[in-house]
Amino acid sequence: MRVFSASLATEINTFSPIPTDLSSFKEDFYCPPGTHPAEPHLFSAPLVVARRRAEADRFTLIEGTCTFAQPAGMVSRDAYETLRDEILGQLRAALPVDAVILGLHGAMVAHGYDDCEGDLLASVRAIVGRETVIGAELDPHCHMTDAKLANADILICFKAFPHTDFAERAEELVTLCLAAARRKIRPVMSVYDCRMIASFPTSRQPMRGFVDKIKSLEGHDGVLSISVAHCFPYADVPEVGAKMVVVTDDRSAVGARLAKNLGEELFTMRGKTSPPFEEPDAAITRALANNRPQPVVVADPSDNPGGGAPGDSTVILRRLIERKVEGAAVGPLWDPTAVRFCFAAGEGAKLQLRFGGKTAVTSGQPIDADVTVVKLVRNATQTFAGTTVSMGDCAAVRIGGVDVVLISNRTQGFGPDLFGNCGIDPATRRILVVKSTNHFHAGFAPIAADVLYVDSQGPIPRDMRKVPYTRIRRPIWPLDENPHGTAPRP
Ligand SMILES: [Zn+2]
Repeated sequence: MRVFSASLATEINTFSPIPTDLSSFKEDFYCPPGTHPAEPHLFSAPLVVARRRAEADRFTLIEGTCTFAQPAGMVSRDAYETLRDEILGQLRAALPVDAVILGLHGAMVAHGYDDCEGDLLASVRAIVGRETVIGAELDPHCHMTDAKLANADILICFKAFPHTDFAERAEELVTLCLAAARRKIRPVMSVYDCRMIASFPTSRQPMRGFVDKIKSLEGHDGVLSISVAHCFPYADVPEVGAKMVVVTDDRSAVGARLAKNLGEELFTMRGKTSPPFEEPDAAITRALANNRPQPVVVADPSDNPGGGAPGDSTVILRRLIERKVEGAAVGPLWDPTAVRFCFAAGEGAKLQLRFGGKTAVTSGQPIDADVTVVKLVRNATQTFAGTTVSMGDCAAVRIGGVDVVLISNRTQGFGPDLFGNCGIDPATRRILVVKSTNHFHAGFAPIAADVLYVDSQGPIPRDMRKVPYTRIRRPIWPLDENPHGTAPRP
């Protein structure tokens, strides 16, 4: 048996002012065949799992390129076509293959391509034909499009948000693809379109319970896998929206019924899945009232680089400085130019620095302040669910009672070691402001007295009705109150 695996992943915010080109992939994560490290990247776990299992499961793995770019704005046509054709060329050279197992994100949009992965999967199908099994692991923040469903046999999304289960889902994908290639199962996918746009963190109810429920349904009645495609709201493409996907062993009626029932249940949770969002000042006031020894963690999802935002908004930081808060730390804040200036000045130096607030109209104004360079770190990293995430060269600077981690590789805040690795002990701070929607929760919740979510009115609006869509299919909640005509269930 011969299996081909590769990975092409990014999440494109079509409203982001930061264009994505080939260098965005090559500088972030780019592993041509044979060069992938032993540790999986969030999206390359299928290849790492397949590599580890090849001998025991008696197949030959042919490795293709694995690459990822930090979420940002539209991918150039040239970058997408170059990477697609690189992987397709590797696949052609690998023929014949019994299975193609891909690590994708599912919300990649390029100039000329609303659905890059749908196009990629269709191209793979055209090369390998109907008999070869095609499976892919997707981020739940994907566009679960008709083209993806039509051209794959098995699609599995991460169930957890934060995405701590990417390796488990990759194991399932490889197991099912091998079984299908050996004709032990005949996977059939059923889908239900929930007609809704929302955020579904699984670190809180009701989604935690919903995910536990769908897990308990797998393995019974021919149900092989159930995925909630949450949707990625910040893309102006027609097929945005949450969907339920059920993979059965040749039981399409069971799958369709289950997808519909679960999808209707998800729809009844609309408006209840997101945490409440506070104004920056209200959150700072609440955090300062905390009298437990642990810090209060304040998330800034509307400037989350993981969703394509720049990560240089100064809105919350400015209020901390103006209110002369003592014992606060903010990170990561993306400003490679300011980092360079800090390295030039040196550790311990005091200088007047302008930083942040540069990239989006909603990023706030730059901070102009007398700062002390507390710590300089070359090639600093942070961790997430056993993976290492680069922050590039970093400078920790202090303004009064506020420390800021300035980074040069744009990324969201994943783990408390983003502070610790830059000389700021997170446990000793009263307030930790983190640019992230929910991935931070896995690492920060255990050290936090409380977790607050702020809407800083940044580049990623928390209220989906404020996203300036022009092309999405209507009706869809919350833009339309009753997209199903009659509500499925009260
Ligand atoms: Zn995601």
